[in-house]
Amino acid sequence: MEKLEQAIQRLELRLGELNTFKLIKRSNLTGWLFSIDKKNWQVLHIGEKWPVQAFPCYFMKEFTIPEEFKGLPVRLQVWVEGEGIVYINGKPVGGLDPNHREFRLLDLADGGEKFTVLIEAVPRGPFGSYVAEPHLAQSRLVSIDESVESALFDLYAVLDAAKNLPDENDLKEVLIDALDSSLSLVKFPSNTGDYLVSVTENPFGSRMIFGVWNPPVPKGEFISPEETRKSIVEAGKKMKELLDKIKTQYPPVGNITLTGHSHIDLAWLWPMSETRRKIRRTSSTVISLMDRYSDFKYNQSSAQIYAFLKEDEPELYERVKEKVKSGQWEPVGGMWVESDCNLTSGESLVRQILYAQKFFEKEFGKRCKVAWLPDAFGFTWTLPQIFKKAGIDYFLTTKINWNETNKFPYDLFFWQGLDGTRIIAHSFLNPGQGYNGNIQALDILGTWKNYRQKAIYPDTLLSFGFGDGGGGPTREMLEMYKRFKEFPGFPRLKMGFVEEFFERVPKEGLPVWDGELYLELHRGTYTTQSKMKKANRKVEHLLYTAEVIASIGYLITRRYPQEELTADWHKLLRNQFHDILPGSSIKEVYKDALRELKEVEDSTNRIIEESLKAIAERLKLDREAIIVFNPNSFPRDLRYIGNNIPSGNFELPDGRPVYMQE
Ligand SMILES: [Zn+2]
Repeated sequence: MEKLEQAIQRLELRLGELNTFKLIKRSNLTGWLFSIDKKNWQVLHIGEKWPVQAFPCYFMKEFTIPEEFKGLPVRLQVWVEGEGIVYINGKPVGGLDPNHREFRLLDLADGGEKFTVLIEAVPRGPFGSYVAEPHLAQSRLVSIDESVESALFDLYAVLDAAKNLPDENDLKEVLIDALDSSLSLVKFPSNTGDYLVSVTENPFGSRMIFGVWNPPVPKGEFISPEETRKSIVEAGKKMKELLDKIKTQYPPVGNITLTGHSHIDLAWLWPMSETRRKIRRTSSTVISLMDRYSDFKYNQSSAQIYAFLKEDEPELYERVKEKVKSGQWEPVGGMWVESDCNLTSGESLVRQILYAQKFFEKEFGKRCKVAWLPDAFGFTWTLPQIFKKAGIDYFLTTKINWNETNKFPYDLFFWQGLDGTRIIAHSFLNPGQGYNGNIQALDILGTWKNYRQKAIYPDTLLSFGFGDGGGGPTREMLEMYKRFKEFPGFPRLKMGFVEEFFERVPKEGLPVWDGELYLELHRGTYTTQSKMKKANRKVEHLLYTAEVIASIGYLITRRYPQEELTADWHKLLRNQFHDILPGSSIKEVYKDALRELKEVEDSTNRIIEESLKAIAERLKLDREAIIVFNPNSFPRDLRYIGNNIPSGNFELPDGRPVYMQE
């Protein structure tokens, strides 16, 4: 094994052990109440299976902070093995998922404070995965020594950087040496009994101890010696001093604009009813993080997501509005959903934007200038023209980087549409989890390395936060942001709005892509789930026809079914989402989608029927007639097949004969 790799493994082991010592107090909270209707409750203890599974289930616990926590910060650590949302004293404080299991209760306890915690959860993982037997796996109050925790973040950032720098970069060895010398200050407990108890608290340490033949059995209560904790803080301090020195020799290079994000697929491996809960979970996590981290910025696309949140959790929605106003939360995209951009008609694309921009303007006082489509499966050549005419000057996707055969050549470019319109387009290639990025060395170094237009503009975007099934950024990511934003040899990180990033991009000198953005990866997107495709096209036509005929009907009746048509459009637009229309969702999603599109079909047929009737009644005819209506803006041939056709010869109003046969 290479020398550097060995050194990194050794440091990783030591840091893993240190993680134990940040915990200074813990107290299990058992005896929760469980219910599926919030009326009939039964007691559930730690380690027990949920007695019933339903969508959703509820967990409730009332408790008082024990006196022993007096003078300490208190957090709740809880895990029920299913995705959920946590309410503390009636307020949503965050989503519950594998990456979000800790909730702050008090910065400094007096002891005796009362809390009521309610959790709404489903027996599913964030990607819709089936959890056969979910348990109340963990529930405890803990007190964390926050200065130790902070020092551990400082040390971990350096380890992460050293791990991800290439061997040939001599900064790697410099960082390893600095971490080594900082960690030499740590005083581990010298008493074997205490040491064993403390390492078993850490899953990593526990694996090491219990993996040996005849493992020693730890005895006694967990302790975190003050001497050890103080020495970890000293090690963190020394690491920072050393980093400041290293930075003079290895200054930061390049720039990354970070945008907090959570890709919430509107329906994919779960139905839309679950997405509505995912939206509440993710939004509450983001709001709580924003309250604690004032420089944290986050973008969220899709008017439909906001509309669902407004309906489902109005108080939380108001908090989102406050954060938009205060400049932390950025509505982006300017579309009703992140729609498919291959099969949707031109009119649908226009409506995606029209209804969304109206919504954003009304709710947030501003239209969006950035099309945010990181994950849609390819983009029609007409989009630049449609976007530009709708006030959207910028376009982001990361999807074209997924091409299987031909590597797309640019990350920052003019995308030229069929009519010659140009918009500025940007993409980033994060070797971590793509648009579900993290603030870690792999994501930071990799995204910067992969960015190909550095010479034209030395800044690239990177979105961070768990996504696809929602979840969003974590506290750990924001702590790592503090450590990495001015790190030696790394690109400088700056939290920012996506629109502001694009505004700063030079408006000339960019390479030009003149053509569609075809995705060479997801296959069968034009054919899979053909019933869905057929229903989409049918309803697109019906909506157009209904609007044309209802507009002419309006001239006679002075009534226009505006509300009904808007509701119909919303139904169609949300079902054009980039996992629904292309065909990549689960069966349940198509059941819902086809039902919604059938509702639109019935509604538009009713509108057409009523409007035609109003028009027909207005025509004063002195004989039996068939009224034929062409809603197109161009003349067309017509063949009419029907029953009960009045007898005799027919002629058009201008006297031309109509040919017919029985
Ligand atoms: Zn997606």
